[in-house]
Amino acid sequence: MFESLSDRLGKIFEGLRGRGALSEADVTAALREVRRALIEADVSLEVVRAFVEQVRERAVGAEVTRSITPGQQVVKIVHDELVAVLGDAAVPIDLNAPAPVTLLMVGLQGSGKTTTTAKIAKRLKERQGKKVLLASLDTRRPAAMEQLKVLGEQVGVATLPIVTTEDPVAIARRAAREARLGGFDVLILDTAGRTHIDEELMDETARIKAVSNPHEVLLVADALTGQDAVNLARSFDSRVDLTGIVLTRVDGDGRGGAALSMRAATGKPIKLVGVGERMDALEDFHPGRVADRILG
Ligand code: GDP
Repeated sequence: MFESLSDRLGKIFEGLRGRGALSEADVTAALREVRRALIEADVSLEVVRAFVEQVRERAVGAEVTRSITPGQQVVKIVHDELVAVLGDAAVPIDLNAPAPVTLLMVGLQGSGKTTTTAKIAKRLKERQGKKVLLASLDTRRPAAMEQLKVLGEQVGVATLPIVTTEDPVAIARRAAREARLGGFDVLILDTAGRTHIDEELMDETARIKAVSNPHEVLLVADALTGQDAVNLARSFDSRVDLTGIVLTRVDGDGRGGAALSMRAATGKPIKLVGVGERMDALEDFHPGRVADRILG
């Protein structure tokens, strides 16, 4: 991810770096190129506009004109602003609440929700010694419930026994009871997804949230999501108040725009990234490192 954006920006900045002086026109021309590169990387238009404006404000100011290395200075400003868009520091999953701490996983079908649910369980178990219970609320797709059970077995984490006649809210209640009585530290609820956002999905997700009182509500989203990323993240955030985002398929050839767009549109941190299909292919998201990678 980000390779082509990184290449494009690298070329733009190469032209700026060694310059002894920069006029406002030079900066404007460079920013026009930056803007184009970001749009091609699938960053949403609205986010690109705000970003470029922010950089311009600083880049035409004294910080640059008085600098003895103005080109370097512009590159630094772009870097700082990228970090600001991506979020300041890696934000871990927050388990700071009385047990069982509930995590609610939401997102579209196929985004990697079930896989990510199992990956997080494995991580909490192995790194923090947590006793985790998983529950699938996907009553429409029995295969999804089965998939979570299989993944749970694979990572050695308990799953709530499947009862096919219950609705998602009833399962959420049963899961909470089971987690309490069974002495679990963490309960992760894997909700049903749809192929697109609709009112029914949002309603169901909101009702599940109301009965399960989650400490974290994590949106699982595919890094390949293009211009839809902003709409997706905002829709979920406005209905269920996200606490964070997990970006999947970061190992793919996505252009990376979703990462910048979703954080900027919601202000909610990207907490983790999925980097493969294996159960250990989950990493912390470090905005600074990502900005470094983008800027080569
Ligand atoms: P759900 O419908 O949202 O629950 O999606 P799944 O968890 O079933 O994932 C759909 C497919 O995406 C599966 O084949 C996963 O193995 C795959 N997948 C999930 N996360 C990642 C990731 O980070 N990288 C890659 N390459 N594949 C992933």
